[in-house]
Amino acid sequence: MPKYKVKILKDKCIGAASCVGIAPGVYQLDDKNIAYVVKEDGDTPENILLGAQSCPTNAIEIYDAETNEKIWPKD
Ligand code: SF4
Repeated sequence: MPKYKVKILKDKCIGAASCVGIAPGVYQLDDKNIAYVVKEDGDTPENILLGAQSCPTNAIEIYDAETNEKIWPKD
């Protein structure tokens, strides 16, 4: 079971692709340059989180898959 649930807020994504640079197995850009999740457990939990933290607009939300607790971004 994946450690994290990944949610992309597409209206916040500006296509900066830093998430893709860090964890391309999880994050990819669609034909409109908006990020989507290719595979929720396509990289280590650390890289999944780092990818989310690299997003300049906080368009990626990370949740604990078991408890649903929001891990990132911190409010
Ligand atoms: S880093 Fe953020 S803005 Fe850039 S592609 Fe990923 S989700 Fe979109």
